[in-house]
Amino acid sequence: MSFDKDRYFSEIALKEAEKALNENTYPIGAVIVDEDGNLIAKGRNQVHPHQDATAHAEINAIRNSGQAILTAKVNRQKFTIYTSLEPCPMCTGGILFANIKRVVWLLNDDTGFGGYRKIRAANVLNERFDEVDIMEEPYGDLKIRQQELMSKWTGNPNNIVNLRNALT
Ligand SMILES: [Zn+2]
Repeated sequence: MSFDKDRYFSEIALKEAEKALNENTYPIGAVIVDEDGNLIAKGRNQVHPHQDATAHAEINAIRNSGQAILTAKVNRQKFTIYTSLEPCPMCTGGILFANIKRVVWLLNDDTGFGGYRKIRAANVLNERFDEVDIMEEPYGDLKIRQQELMSKWTGNPNNIVNLRNALT
């Protein structure tokens, strides 16, 4: 059996998502990997612990990549980002700015702001999006694990619905 690199890194992203849930914030994790399969950086949602609405998993992974993102751009290296949930509009923009050329996500996001596919369908920045390959929901079992994290998040005291209900 050959080594499934995509699955290996998807599972690391999922572990980051679990950590985030344990920190009482949105259970989303991301990792950035270079062309040779080296892990460049990890990130997880930190919106609640850092009280920062922009502290999403993908943005944090990009921040944690530091100089590597710019070096990859100069050297025309193609980085991949693995994330446990389809990137939101902000992170989709971040991915384009970071020059990441491949996006793998474990679960589509059809709620709230929606995400990557919705922005893509808006028919803007086509020349940028055309350079990026995507892989959506490649693993049924990992998709279910992310869905389970999302349902646990529904019951978390920091979930916005529960925060609002606590006021009444
Ligand atoms: Zn995001």
